[in-house]
Amino acid sequence: MHRLITAIAVLLTAAAAAAQPADWSRPFPGHRVIGNLYAVGTYDLACFLITSDEGHILINTGLAESAPLIRENIESLGFRLEDVRVLLTMQAHYDHTAALAEIKKATGAEMWATAADAPLLEDGGASDPHFRGEYTFAPVPVDRILGDGEVLELGAVRLTVVEMPGHTPGSVGYTMTVTENGRDYRVAIANMGSMNPGLRLAKDPTYPGIAGDFAETFRRQRAMEVDVWVAAHASQYGLHDKYRPGDAYSPDTFVDPEGFRKLVAHYEKLFEEQLAAERR
Ligand SMILES: [Zn+2]
Repeated sequence: MHRLITAIAVLLTAAAAAAQPADWSRPFPGHRVIGNLYAVGTYDLACFLITSDEGHILINTGLAESAPLIRENIESLGFRLEDVRVLLTMQAHYDHTAALAEIKKATGAEMWATAADAPLLEDGGASDPHFRGEYTFAPVPVDRILGDGEVLELGAVRLTVVEMPGHTPGSVGYTMTVTENGRDYRVAIANMGSMNPGLRLAKDPTYPGIAGDFAETFRRQRAMEVDVWVAAHASQYGLHDKYRPGDAYSPDTFVDPEGFRKLVAHYEKLFEEQLAAERR
């Protein structure tokens, strides 16, 4: 019996590993996005470091195994993981949160999260209304609840919280202005309104109010004026088309207002189509 259980466990682990895209754990060099915003994640799981003289903000962590890669990327840019003071997420799904607990322990940083995603972080995804405990991660205690429109301050950093719910109940993005060469760049770290397979919007909704949340997110994102933008997955913001390792830094590398507008419209169309199909 024990051997059977072990065999099943091995099969399940293999299946889970197979289902996980290789790009999620493949290393990718840390690089400067613009000003004090750096990308320190894996090939596809985007993590962002926002630096200041009084410590840094780290947004997302990737998988549990991503922690050493994130540290390496931060150090390669001349910063220290130990100087991270604040941890943020964009969506409380395991592929973006699984190393938060470990990095919090290593740095003593505070975990700040939206009211709707805080419970998912604190129970390691057990209460996730979509995955329902299927994909869990090490729970991380939340030190501060963020509200929409709140301006987070650390050193000279002023980061505005923009709730973008739907993908998870408390999905969130952040905006700031970065000045480079005398020009102000409006920068968005946006959680896109993508839908995981099996999400339900109208009929037996994944969580109450999910359709209204997505609609509000698309309304907000359509209204956003953006010069430079990044998202939770590198593939979403076209990292590998815009930047190759070794490219010289330019504040214009990630300027792409049209790409943002198009991707928001793309996800909104998918949302409208699924909503219509469920109501048919
Ligand atoms: Zn997700």
